[in-house]
Order: sequence, then structure tokens, then C-alpha cells
Amino acid sequence: MQSVIPDYLAEALGDVESDTSGEPADYIPELATADPELLGAVFATVDGEVYGAGDIDTEFTIQSISKPFVYALALTDRGFDPVLAKVGVEPSGEAFNRISLESDTGRPFNPMINAGAITTHSLAGPAGMDPQERVERVVRGLSAFAGRGLRVDERVCVSEMEHAHRNLAIAYMLRGYDILIEDPRVVVEGYTRQCSVLVTARDLAMMAATLAHRGVNPLSGERVVSEPVVRQVLSVMSTCGMYDAAGDWATQVGIPAKSGVAGGLIGALPGQIGIATFSPRLDPHGNSVRGVSLFERFSSDMGLHVMEVPAAARATLRSNHVVGSGPDAVRVLQLQGGIGFAGAERVVREAVTTAPTETRVALDLTMVYVVDDVARRMLLEVVRRLTLDGHQVYLVDPDAIMPDPDPGDGGRVTVVSEVGQGVVPPREAAPRRGRPEEGGGVPGS
Ligand code: GLU
Repeated sequence: MQSVIPDYLAEALGDVESDTSGEPADYIPELATADPELLGAVFATVDGEVYGAGDIDTEFTIQSISKPFVYALALTDRGFDPVLAKVGVEPSGEAFNRISLESDTGRPFNPMINAGAITTHSLAGPAGMDPQERVERVVRGLSAFAGRGLRVDERVCVSEMEHAHRNLAIAYMLRGYDILIEDPRVVVEGYTRQCSVLVTARDLAMMAATLAHRGVNPLSGERVVSEPVVRQVLSVMSTCGMYDAAGDWATQVGIPAKSGVAGGLIGALPGQIGIATFSPRLDPHGNSVRGVSLFERFSSDMGLHVMEVPAAARATLRSNHVVGSGPDAVRVLQLQGGIGFAGAERVVREAVTTAPTETRVALDLTMVYVVDDVARRMLLEVVRRLTLDGHQVYLVDPDAIMPDPDPGDGGRVTVVSEVGQGVVPPREAAPRRGRPEEGGGVPGS
């Protein structure tokens, strides 16, 4: 069977193809020569699967899509405080190249507008790094996000530098406020090289998937940046990534995103996928017209809005039933899915409201695929309190989803691989895997 996803992507491209509104960016002359008909879309999953349709291997310059990634590099290389001292995290609601800075501090509002991005470029690499080496650090860092070696398009870089008057004006203002402490022209040259790095839609989807995958590139397995850095970057992307269209985007699409004036657009959905589209015609905000339509469609077709309420918490407790009878009876709380705070809270509540009368209590994790850190601590605390209340507690965990479970002070837990093993005699084994238990009785007796 062929995967349905490339067909879905091809159909989505077909639907937006007839929209020829907007124009390729022309303030950088070299970008105006782009073929406006180019169109591609890619999904990259956090486990490295790539689905694409259309022009997904055509190279174009990354432009502003470099901004979140270089912000991530600056946070990694310098730490949060030094970066936050120079660049804020407030949406400016203004165009990307607006010459505006916070009135008191002179700080750029955020790292997604040019003033902030020029500053974060200057903060990549260790303090005092030679500007040329800094550009190399940036290109290497972007390459690590993409999982392949990237290079600069010299023609676009020269073309942009010849018309970089606004960015130079911004940089000189930043120098005036001591936000930049080097020659503004040198920083703008480095920033322009950063914007001229060539990528494909496939690369961009993988870069976004690295953010979606907590900073680890799904293909190379390399940890590019830490989880706190990813959280910071995705937060800023979701509030400031789409310039003055950020509010519309947040409500209609709801995926942390970043656009670039060469026609690229990325979205990163934490824990799920990285998405990239490419189409050079831009709307008045500087965002790709067809890219925005595609993202609107992806978000509504597949429920990808980050504020979409997950069903997981409600469904965590699959059943609460008793296996066996008399002194052999075991109270089994059967859990399922991925368990975070809300799911663990559901288990805590169940343990409190239906205080088990059976001596033996089992938490059955057979159908659980992940328990996050807070849920782990909460479940272990449930185990500890049940022990203190006089119960014998078992963890049914055949796949070691919760390795080394230590409930701490006064708690005790026995790990078994099925309910029948060491918890109840085999003839009274648990319900078959994958089938909901109807409750009550002893199967097969
Ligand atoms: N290099 C471009 C600039 O600074 C990037 C703008 C963009 O992609 O939005 O003007």
C-alpha cells in the first residue's frame, strides 16, 4: 500500500496552485528573479519520516527563517540572561524591517524582527569571536538543524548587501544604544550571509522537526540545542513569528511558525511534526500567499492547532477493575497512552475517590507508551501513599516504561510483567491486551 500522506499533500498543492496573487520580494533584486510558480510542501515527523509533494528539493535562500534558529544558537552559546538583556520577547505587531526599538533600553522588541535578528546574529558564538568565524558557526549550526551541510548563495548575499540600507540604519541605531558593540556594517554583513544560506523545503521541514523533537535532529540523532532553548524559541515563534500578522496566525493556524521573504514558511508542532512550504509570491506582510493558505488547510484538516485540547487526559484511565476474589483479589488500574500531568491527576483522583478495599493494588502500564517526568513523580507518590495505607502495590510494566521506580520514603512497589505474574495466580490473568475490560469478574473462571 502507498502512504496516503504524499497524495494528501499533492491534492493540497493542486488546490492552491491557481492562486497567483502576491509578488516575489523585489527589495532584494536577486529574489525578484525567482520562478514564481515553484510550489512545494513537506511534512517531517519527529522520528525522521519525510513526506513531500511538489518542488521540495529546489534551493532558495532561508532569509528570515534563519532567525529562530540563530536565536537558538545565541541562547546556547551565551546563555539566556545575556541574550535577554539585549533582545526582548514582546511581539512588536510591526513589519519585519520597522526601525523601532524599546524607548527606554534601546532593546529590539523580539528576535524575529530585523533589529532583534541582527542583534542575535552578533550573539552567536562565544563573546569576542571573529565575525567571519561567527558566520561559520552560524552556517554550521543551521546545517546541524537541517542534518546536512548548507552553503551561502553569494549572488543573493551581494545583491542584498547592495540594498541593505535599512538594515544598516537599524544596526547603527543599535550601536548607538550599545546593544551592538561592534562595527554595525560587519554585523549586517554577517546577518546578510546568514539570510543567504541555501535550503530546500525538505531541509526546512527537518529543521522544524528538530525543534518539534525537543532539539534533536530526527535523522542524525544529534542534539543541536537543549530543551529549554527549544521552548523559548517556539514560544517566541508563536507570538512573533509572523510579523504584523502574528495574531491572525495564532488564532487561525495556531502552529509556531516563521516565514522568509524568499517564499519559505515553516511550522513546528511540538512532539509531532515539522512542516515546510515553499512558494515565492508574498502577501503585504511578507508571508508566502500560498504557504499561508496551505498552513491554514493543514491546521484545520488535521487538528494541528497547538491549542487543540488533547483527548489524552480523559482517556488515561482505561479501566478500574478487580481481578480474582477473596484474599486473592487485586484492584487493577489500567492506564493507557502518553501520560503527562493531566493524565496522572486522573489516576490520583481515581485512587482517592475509589479508595481500594483490596489489599493488592496494581497500576497496569502495559498500554502506556510514555510517562513524562511530572507524571512519573505523581504516580510514584500514589504508590507510596497506597503502601502507607497498608496496600501491596504492583507496577505492571513489561516494557520498562518507568524504569527504576522508587516511590521513596515508606513506599514499596513490585514490578511485574503481567497481572497474572506474582500478583494473582495465572488462571486469573488480566484481560487480553488491547481489549477494554468490562469490569468486575475474573476472566475465565
Ligand atoms: N534578509 C531579509 C532582511 O533582513 C530577511 C527578511 C525576511 O525574510 O523577512 O531584510
